[in-house]
Amino acid sequence: MEHQIIKINQGSARTFRKSVLIIYTGGTIGMAYADDGILVPFDFEKIITEMPSLRAMDLEITVVSFAQPIDSSNVTFEHWNEMAKLIEQFYSQHQGFVILHGTDTLAYSASALSFMLENLQKPVIFTGSQLPMGAIRSDAGQNLVAALQIASCGTPGPIVREVCIYFDHILFRGNRSKKVESLHFDAFKSENYPALAEVGINIEYNYAVLAEVTEKEPFKIYSIKPVCIGLVKLFPGLEESYFKHILSTPGLRALVLETFGSGNAPTSAWFTHSIAQAIDNGLVVFNVSQCNGGRVIQGRYVTSKHLLEAGVISGRDITTEAALSKLQFLFTKYQNLDQIKRVLASPLRGEMSN
Ligand code: ASP
Repeated sequence: MEHQIIKINQGSARTFRKSVLIIYTGGTIGMAYADDGILVPFDFEKIITEMPSLRAMDLEITVVSFAQPIDSSNVTFEHWNEMAKLIEQFYSQHQGFVILHGTDTLAYSASALSFMLENLQKPVIFTGSQLPMGAIRSDAGQNLVAALQIASCGTPGPIVREVCIYFDHILFRGNRSKKVESLHFDAFKSENYPALAEVGINIEYNYAVLAEVTEKEPFKIYSIKPVCIGLVKLFPGLEESYFKHILSTPGLRALVLETFGSGNAPTSAWFTHSIAQAIDNGLVVFNVSQCNGGRVIQGRYVTSKHLLEAGVISGRDITTEAALSKLQFLFTKYQNLDQIKRVLASPLRGEMSN
């Protein structure tokens, strides 16, 4: 993929202690209204003219822009692989990384990157905005400036060494977050994990919940090799034929089952039998709750005991976004089904609780 590279605060008389790479992928933050009134992505260069304050930061900033910035509803594995490759390419040159991304699928991308970047020892901060950079009352400038500060924070080493989302004054763990709001500025929440930092007059880090420094294996990236993974949200009235049709999808390797409450599902014979048979035939079934808070406890109710007995794997308090990308990642990294199931069942990048 061709990239446009813009350098800010470089080659000037000032010397800077830190440097950050911004990867601009698209999203509202960099959109403008077209003639028909619809928001479409545009070149990042124009954003710099909207935000002269970037030039005032004590920071060397390099911006790498996707050749074709996207609305994040169009994000694909190729885009994730592109982001990971850019971080690998520039890893040693920068203290931290900020990824500008549309909010719609931002939690999916942040979750995916958290798995794809192994032994990460630097901050990778996703952010975006609810209003375009040029709009009056836009949240873009504040989000970007704080993300840049967090990405460059820490002496001698970085404070944050994981993939995060910064939005509306809060730093979240990326693979614990969800987009929950499309009109207000507080677009993200992380119901099952505390905020990593809160930004007011100062940036207050919650050191106890940040990813621990677990060196010293070398940093490594994985490029996702797509496999067919399904997602079914249970609802009263789910049709047998519809569900069986999904299970018989050619090449289906795994299914995220969005269950009720603490991991519950119907106990009807056809449902129980379909799940058990699919697992016997090699399908990985991962139980994720429809509730944003709380966790899956298979066997707590009779309505989840049959799932446990069939070999469904508990997603505990994982988000659907993280569940899907963890599966994609594990099928990329491992061949052996037992190994995939083993790693799936326990926390890998802080995406679920013990
Ligand atoms: N549709 C936009 C996107 O996800 C929304 C946003 O950026 O907030 O790219």
